[in-house]
Amino acid sequence: MRQADLILYNANILTMDEQRPRAQLVGVKGGRIIWVGDNDELKDLKGRKIDCEGKTLVPGFNDAHCHILAFASSLLSVDCSPSSVSSITDIQARIREQAQKLAPGSWVRATGYNEFYLAEKRHPTRWDLDQAAPHHPIKLTHRSGHASVLNSLALSLAGISAESPEPPGGLIDRDLESGEPNGILFEMEAYLDKVIPPLSEAELEKGVRLANENYLSLGITSLQDATVHNGLKEWQTFLKLKERGNLAPRLSLMMGTDAIAASGLPPRYGDDGMRLGAAKIVLDETTGRLHPSPEELEEQVLEAYQAGFQVAIHAIEEGAVEAAARAVAHAVARHPRRGHRHRIEHCSVCPPPILEQLAHAQVIVVTQPAFIYYSGERYLATVAQEQLPWLYRIGSFLKEGLMPAAGSDSPVVPNNPLVGIYAAVTRKAESGDELAIEEQVSPFEALKMYTQAAAYACFEEEAKGSIAVGKLADLVLLSADPTAVPHEEIKEIRVEMTIVDGRIAWQH
Ligand SMILES: [Zn+2]
Repeated sequence: MRQADLILYNANILTMDEQRPRAQLVGVKGGRIIWVGDNDELKDLKGRKIDCEGKTLVPGFNDAHCHILAFASSLLSVDCSPSSVSSITDIQARIREQAQKLAPGSWVRATGYNEFYLAEKRHPTRWDLDQAAPHHPIKLTHRSGHASVLNSLALSLAGISAESPEPPGGLIDRDLESGEPNGILFEMEAYLDKVIPPLSEAELEKGVRLANENYLSLGITSLQDATVHNGLKEWQTFLKLKERGNLAPRLSLMMGTDAIAASGLPPRYGDDGMRLGAAKIVLDETTGRLHPSPEELEEQVLEAYQAGFQVAIHAIEEGAVEAAARAVAHAVARHPRRGHRHRIEHCSVCPPPILEQLAHAQVIVVTQPAFIYYSGERYLATVAQEQLPWLYRIGSFLKEGLMPAAGSDSPVVPNNPLVGIYAAVTRKAESGDELAIEEQVSPFEALKMYTQAAAYACFEEEAKGSIAVGKLADLVLLSADPTAVPHEEIKEIRVEMTIVDGRIAWQH
C-alpha cells in the first residue's frame, strides 16, 4: 500500500507518454506523480480519492507564448475587443463612461481594438478619442499590442508633437502636410512605458489575480511570458506575485537580449515555479524595413546563443520570417550545438523555401492556432492570395520533423487552449471559413502542442508535458475527450478541475 496525497481514478487519461498512452488512475504526492495505472490498482493506494466519472484527464496546458502583465492590465481596462465593440462610436461611448468614473487628469486605459472589425474600417484617431474624453489622457491599445492610439492630452503628456522624431523601430502616424501626429503610434510600447505612469502595485496585483483565475479556469498550469521588455524588474515583480500566491501557474519568463545579458542570471535560472526563459527579439517590418537589420539580428542571435541562451524571435511578415530563419541558421552553422531549440514566434507566413530552411536549422515554431479562429476572416480578406496556403502552417512543420508548440499570445486573443486545439484541427475561423486546410493536424497532435511540445520549447520536457511517474503533478480534467468528440465540439469542452503541483487549484 502506497500513501498518496491525491488519487484520481475512473478517468479517461491521455498521458501523452508514449510508454503508456492510456491509463485510468493517477496518484500524486509532494507535488509529483507517483503512480499511473488502472482502476484495479486503487486498492494499492491510500489517500484522498476522487472519482473522475469517466471524464478525460490530460497534462496541464502550457501556454508557450503569452503576455501576463498586459493581460492583467487589460482586465482592468476598458474592453474594446471585437466581442465588445463594433465601431469607433462604441469605443467612444465606452471610454466616455469610464472617464465619468475618474477624476479629470487620470489616465483612461482601453485595450483590444482591431480596426478590421470596426464598422469604420480604420484606426481611431486622437480626435475621435478627444470627443469621448478631452480632459482625461487616454491610451487605447491595439489588439496586437504593437500599436496604440493616444488622445491629444495623452500625446502632450507623452511629449509627442509634430517636432518629435520617430524613436528607433517606432512610427508616429502623421498628417502628411502638417506633420501633426494623428495619435496612432506603431511599435512604441517601450517608449510609452517610460512616459505613461504604470499601474500601481495594488492595481497590478488585482489584475494578476483576475488573470490567474482565468488561466486556471482554462486548465493552464504553465505560462511562457514572451514580453520583450521583460527584465530584472519584471523578474522581481513576478517573484513577489508568486510568493504571495497571486499566480499559481508555473512561469518561464523570457527577457529582451540586452536585459537578459544585464540581469547576470544564467540560462534557465530558477526553479519549477519560475524560470528564466529565452532571449526574446522582436523583428518587425512595420516601418517598411526590418528592425533590427538582418546584420544586427545575426549579431544579437549569435551573442545570446554564445552566452548559452535559447533565442525566441518574433517574426510575422514573410521578410521577417526569412531573416529570422537565416539568422538562426547562421548562428548554428558557426557554433553547432545539438538541441539549441531556437524559436521563431508566430512564423505567420512561411513559403516553401523558408520551410526547408527551418527544417534544416531545426527551429521550433511557436504558433498561435487560435489566431485562425479569431482573425481568420481578416486574413482571408487582407492577406495576398498566394500567401494564404503558407499562413500559420502546422501540418507542414510536423511533416518536416519539427516540433511546433502553441501559445495564445494573450491578450491578443483569449487564452482558451481548447479553441486553439479546435482551430488547429479544423482550420476554421469564427465565421466558419477555412484557412489553409491542408495544414490541419489531428486533435492528438494539437493537444501535444499545448503540453509536451510546449514543455520541450522551453527545455522542460523532463519535468512536465506528460502524465508519467516522477513528473510534476499538473493536471487538467476535461468534460470530454478532445481526441474522441466530433471536431466541432472540441471548442465547447469545459475544464472541470485544474491541479497544480498536486493541489486542486480550480474547480468548476
Ligand atoms: Zn507576443
